[in-house]
Amino acid sequence: MATRHAPLRAHATPGSVPPDSLTPALIERLATSVVAAPDAARVTTDAPYTGAPLADLPVSTPGDVEDAFARARIAQKAWAATPLSRRKSILLRFHDLVLSRQDEALDLMQAENGKTRRDAFLEVVDIAITSRYYARNAAKYLKPKRRRGAVPVLTHTTELRHPKGVVTVISPWNYPLSMAAGDAVAALMAGNAVVQKPDTQTALTALWSLDLMREAGLPAGVWQMVVGRGSSLGGALMDNADYVMFTGSTVSGRKIASDAGRRLVGASLELGGKNAMIVLDDADIEKAADGAVAACFPSAGQLCVSIERLYVAESIRERFVDAFVARTKRLRIGAAYDYSIDVGSLTTPAQLGTVTAHVDDAVAKGATVLAGGKARPDLGPLFYEPTILTDVTPDMTLCEQETFGPVVSIYSYRGVDEAIARANSTPYGLNASVWSGDGARGRAVAARVHAGTVNVNEAFAAAWGSIDAPMGGMGDSGLGRRHGADGILKYTEAQTVAHQRIQGFTPPAGVSPGTWAGLLTGALKVLKAAGVR
Ligand code: NAD
Repeated sequence: MATRHAPLRAHATPGSVPPDSLTPALIERLATSVVAAPDAARVTTDAPYTGAPLADLPVSTPGDVEDAFARARIAQKAWAATPLSRRKSILLRFHDLVLSRQDEALDLMQAENGKTRRDAFLEVVDIAITSRYYARNAAKYLKPKRRRGAVPVLTHTTELRHPKGVVTVISPWNYPLSMAAGDAVAALMAGNAVVQKPDTQTALTALWSLDLMREAGLPAGVWQMVVGRGSSLGGALMDNADYVMFTGSTVSGRKIASDAGRRLVGASLELGGKNAMIVLDDADIEKAADGAVAACFPSAGQLCVSIERLYVAESIRERFVDAFVARTKRLRIGAAYDYSIDVGSLTTPAQLGTVTAHVDDAVAKGATVLAGGKARPDLGPLFYEPTILTDVTPDMTLCEQETFGPVVSIYSYRGVDEAIARANSTPYGLNASVWSGDGARGRAVAARVHAGTVNVNEAFAAAWGSIDAPMGGMGDSGLGRRHGADGILKYTEAQTVAHQRIQGFTPPAGVSPGTWAGLLTGALKVLKAAGVR
């Protein structure tokens, strides 16, 4: 039986007491934004730090999803007709509200996800950057563009960008604010309505961003949220969508892609990874060791772009491993609603189960634990130590499969070609990192890595934060891109309007088709010879 609005403090343990801002009244207010009937079934989420009940949310039905789409279709028409300048000002106001009310978001993210405050703060930064970027750049991407006509001067050709309509956004629990609001912002700016299903575990943070966007001026019905299992709501979310933005596992992504294919609607899929970091023999070892810590353990490794495989040049392996292990052992693990902690909790019992199973399997088959390697129930039910393994072999599950936890395997290599081949040896291709004392060398190696983003002398934030450039996965890591032009144009339909000012494609009166063909052939040769593109 679900508990209604459990008093958080009563369940918290010392050191992890949620702040006063997370009142039952706030939670209830956010929960009322879920599209669901007043007598809907309820679901209770638990706080990862303590295992105590956190929120009690209404569960949407497929009928609620249908209702949300019906409302969204009406709201979208007015929203698409709203001047871009107005949409821009709403997004910029949202930006300001997220920054000024960040403590609420940080508290919510920590309570729902178990991450550290530092990791949560990066999501606030991300949403501010994304909102500002699309508010200020949407006009450039969406405005009608003159294109070269079929017949120079005589054909006036324009490319228009229309919103897709109503976009389904499905988001996971690991980056509750970034994943919920980041993709919605671009879809909204392009004139779409959004029906979103955040993961239930972190729905409050998503609902908080919706609340702020409405406060910023977004009209009712333009962005709505439903709560429930993918297996229950997935059909209605897919059957009604004009476009789908999905972030989650590769297994779920394949199902979404096939459902979208059946309906011939577009889908952007941001999926899993088994990201590699290559430390070249000329790398600054201290900096690379700092970089490895930053790369492997953010949000307890529950970050799609975090690193789980480390390839180190044999000549520097020992020094690098010593530096990395020493830093990792110094990390402060725990639960605190302030900036004092380096590594937080895993989010769900299932995630703790996967991490434990992967490490135990590797150790049983001969892997060596250089740091961590065990759960920390003394800190809370879902804590797991930052873990460094070596002697990992292909028969171990974690060698190729995504763990999505604070676990990294170190391998050494002899030549750069070998490092690149091994980095490229999984079906995934999301993110990678290359460390070198020579920037040009690092960038040249980066270009040979099969991954949608590659960071040189940085873990992931350089590429992710380059909001003007595309971000997404190759291979089993996904389809489509977020950020930059792709991140907003994918939410639009391109339309070409070509106005033929003077008839130009059929032979003029008195000119035979054969003569006309000869004349056109001559004209084509002239155009090529003149260097026309
Ligand atoms: P998941 O696929 O199980 O779930 C993600 C979301 O999709 C949840 O909201 C879930 O309810 C929903 N869902 C699942 N199947 C659905 C269906 N058929 N119809 C509708 N909704 C459905 O993923 P997860 O395990 O919760 O998230 C972790 C995974 O997400 C990891 O593999 C991680 O790498 C990946 N991820 C990728 C990115 C990226 O940008 N590439 C970002 C974050 C997380």
